[in-house]
Parts: sequence; C-alpha cells; structure tokens
Amino acid sequence: MSMFKDIPVDVGVIYEGERIRRNDMYVEFGGPDIKEKFELARVKKPEEIEDGKITIVGPDLKDMQEGKSYSFGILIEVAGPQLEPELEGVIERRIHAYCNFIEGFMHLNQRYDIWMRLSKKSFQKGLNSFEYIGKVLHRLFKSELPIIEKMQVTFFTDQEKVKSLYDEALRIYDARDARARGLKDEEVDKFYGCALCQSFAPTHVCVITPQRYSNCGAISWFDGRAAASIDPKGPVFTIEKGEMLDAEKGEFSGVNEAVKKKSLSEITRVWLYTGFGYPHTSCGCFEGVAFYIPEVDGFGIVHRGYKEVSVNGLAFSTIADSTAGGRQVDGFHGISIEYMRSPKFLQADGGWKRVVWLPKEVKERVKDFIPAELVDKVATEEDAKTVDELKAFLKEHNHPVVEHWKEEAIAVAEAVPAETGEEVPTMPVVTAATLPLTAGGFKIILKDAKIYAKKVIIRSEKSEKKGESVGKK
Ligand code: SF4
Repeated sequence: MSMFKDIPVDVGVIYEGERIRRNDMYVEFGGPDIKEKFELARVKKPEEIEDGKITIVGPDLKDMQEGKSYSFGILIEVAGPQLEPELEGVIERRIHAYCNFIEGFMHLNQRYDIWMRLSKKSFQKGLNSFEYIGKVLHRLFKSELPIIEKMQVTFFTDQEKVKSLYDEALRIYDARDARARGLKDEEVDKFYGCALCQSFAPTHVCVITPQRYSNCGAISWFDGRAAASIDPKGPVFTIEKGEMLDAEKGEFSGVNEAVKKKSLSEITRVWLYTGFGYPHTSCGCFEGVAFYIPEVDGFGIVHRGYKEVSVNGLAFSTIADSTAGGRQVDGFHGISIEYMRSPKFLQADGGWKRVVWLPKEVKERVKDFIPAELVDKVATEEDAKTVDELKAFLKEHNHPVVEHWKEEAIAVAEAVPAETGEEVPTMPVVTAATLPLTAGGFKIILKDAKIYAKKVIIRSEKSEKKGESVGKK
C-alpha cells in the first residue's frame, strides 16, 4: 500500500537506487539525447507562492508517446522566514533523492544534466500525471525540511519553454558557483560530507571543501554548511578537518575518520587533490572524469555530455563505469566542472600541467582558470582524436608532460641491463583499487594492485573457442 493513499504507486526510501532499463521505461526526460533540461530551486517571498500549487507547462504524462525522450524542466519555488537564497542549492539537490523515493520513477544526475525515467509498470498502475509527482515532492520537502513553509512546483515539458528557461538556469548555476569561490581550504576547520549517493554507490562519500566542490557540481562548501545546519540528521554532515597529514595530496585525519565511518570501513584513506593512490571516491553522478593516459603520462578529461569517443578510444559511459561505484580507482577520478576552476585541482599530480586533453566545450567553460601559458598546449577533439595524434600535438606544442617523457626515457635506458638488453616496463599495464581473480575455486581479491608485464596478449574468447574446436577436429 502506498505511503500516500491518493498516489497510485508506493513512495519510500526503498525505491532509492532503483534502475529503470530502456526496455522497462514508459518515457524518459532529459538524458543524453536531450540537450536542454534543468532543475532549479528558487527562494521567493511568501506572497509570490501558492502553497501546494502544481503547474504543468506542456504535455502531461498521459499525453506522451511511449518510448520517447522529452525535454524537461522542474522549478521548485519555496518561501519561509528562515529561508535564504543560499539554501537554493541544498533544496535543489533534494529533488534527486525525493524523486527516487517514488516507485518506478528514476532520477539521475543534477542541474542541467538530469535524466529521469518513468517505468511502464508504474504508468500502468496509474502514475500518469505530473500532478502526482508534484504532490509527493511537496509533501516530502515540507516534512523533511520544515523551514519550507510554502512551496509550489512547475513542470515544463514544452520544448520551446524548456529551451527558453535553460540559459537562465545556466546563468543561475554559474552565479551560485562564483559566489562560493575565494575561500581556501586552509582557512576553515570544518569540511562537509555528503552520502546522498550511497543509494547507488554504497561506499561513496563526497568530501566537500571550499576548494573541492562536490563531484556532482551541485554542492559547494557553503551549501554543505547550510545543509548540515538546517537538517543535521540529513545526508550532509560536518567533518572536522583534524590534523593535516599531507598538504600536497590533501590528506586530513578527520576526513579519513569520517569517510571510514560512513563507508563502513571500506575506504580508510582519502587524498583529496590527486587522482592516484587514494583518490576521492566516485559515485556515478560526477560531471566529468579525469582519466590517466599512460602513453603520454597525462590526464584526459571527459564530461557526461560528450557524445564522441574520447582520445583514448573510450566513450564517457565506459570510462564512467571504470570510475563509478564508490571505489578508489588509481588514475580514474570523478570530478565536477567547478573543481577544475580550483587551485587545488589535481594539485599533487601537477594540476593543469598534467592535463593533456579535454572536450572543447569544457575547455571553453573553464578557459579563464587554465594558466595562460598552458591554454594552447592542452588539446581538444579538434587537435587530437587518437593517442598518437595527441602525442604529436603535445610534442609540437611543448606541453610540460613532454619533459617527463625525456626523464622516463633516461630512466628506462639506465634500467635496461646492458648484457640482455631486455625491455623493462615502466608503467603498470593494469592498476586497480580492487581486482578480483577466480582461480581453483577461490576468489582472490588484490587490493591496490599494480601489474607489470613484459607482454600483453589480448584474444577474444570467441576466437579462442573457435581455435579450440578447430584444433579438436
Ligand atoms: S555527488 Fe556527492 S555531493 Fe553530490 S549528491 Fe552525490 S554524494 Fe552528495
């Protein structure tokens, strides 16, 4: 039975983390096939809000065509004497959680990147209007965050309307991010943690510092502080920094303790400013991924909206799968766009000096924060589409990583035993935070594994089997 009698499907935390596959979906909103989509929360004056009002601009669920993707925007307007515009980011992020409480309704990502799906099953049960979703949101927001006294919800599915509001939403996000810039990690004694994404990645904890925005790019340190004070029992919590153990890598005793506790001892150390060793965990709603490219000893970056394969031949979805799930994967790092504007961005790895490739769209967005002498040295898809092209570009533009190649070449030459002339591998061919192997009926898990090999042979299982059967004949 439903938690709310007048809602045709069940509502509750047990539905968080529910995935709706394409075959099971009735319709979807936003996502990779739709450019313009947004979710926005605004604090208003009480007289501007009609409490409980739900408005649908464009076709409602029952008027939609099964299997289609639709433009989508959601605007939550709230009022209350204690509500400040500073809380908009916190309220907005709860849209993710509360939508996911609805049986057969999935919400992924954030802000301009949202992706929602309604299941066929829930549609058939009667969830055929945004009125129901609006009612659920109104009740959950008001009961979970009692400082909201009045709230109205508007759903936009009219393509032209979504388009016209999309740019305004982007401007609002940018202004919010800019407000949060300026404060340094060294100037505070508390960071904030967020465990909202544990429904999808149970060992993931975001550590939000003034100079390391959350992975989803939706929660700044100021948002974290506001969230922890208005809802101390909620998913955002205070982390006492404790002792600074490594200033370069960004290791703090208080962060280690908090993450250990919240990840149920699965993650015991976190280095905040590096993609190697003990990198910050990645859930699944990061805006982009920094991925190590061993051939050039630099980081590539790819964002969720990038449709082509990136320079290493892998699509965003494949790189994201190697990164996500609340793990610490050496050389793979879920990040927000705003973190790329921070002086702490991959600080221990060389920062922008170590970034070799990123999509043009992201480069444009963060251009003003890339040191001027490096801007033209970092390649985009227009400069390099493969690792070989990238190598040539970096060499031609004298990117700082090229210096490392020379140092490495000398180190390799020194390491090669003169008598045998054998090649000594300098890079691990496989690195993984956890690498499960199955052998002789046992499952062996190698933690923080680095595997070096003289030669790697890749054969498809199909051709192996074909070879075997041919051999038997
Ligand atoms: S990505 Fe991090 S900050 Fe954003 S909602 Fe998930 S856990 Fe919270």
